Amino acid sequence: MQLPKYKKKKRIKLKVCQEPGCGKEFWGHPIAKYCDDHRDIKQRQKQKKDIENIESKNIIFRHNYTEVMDLPFKCCLDGCDFDFTIKVFPKQFVYPRFCMEHRNDFKRANFIRIMSKKNRDD
Ligand SMILES: [Zn+2]
Ligand SMILES: [Zn+2]
Repeated sequence: MQLPKYKKKKRIKLKVCQEPGCGKEFWGHPIAKYCDDHRDIKQRQKQKKDIENIESKNIIFRHNYTEVMDLPFKCCLDGCDFDFTIKVFPKQFVYPRFCMEHRNDFKRANFIRIMSKKNRDD
């Protein structure tokens, strides 16, 4: 007796990756949701977290400077108007959002706590 060689033949379909911002077409199993790049769940979560991290602590400053410049920035933390100087580099667009003091997670959280308490008391 001869057994069929390919009993479980995989059905593959042309799918579109569900990862936001990807939209890549790929051939996959009917239940597949992600392309090769995003099939690994760790890859997806890590990517998301990295973006959140960048945006929570930095600003995207688009400029056309062709040489290194010292520019005045203002701390983005509510209630802190501290001015600080940032060295702006050509073709670099990600810069810190907060003054020296508030780049520290702990000090920033502390400042937010103090400010919200102050606002409640007013
Ligand atoms: Zn993808
Ligand atoms: Zn500050």
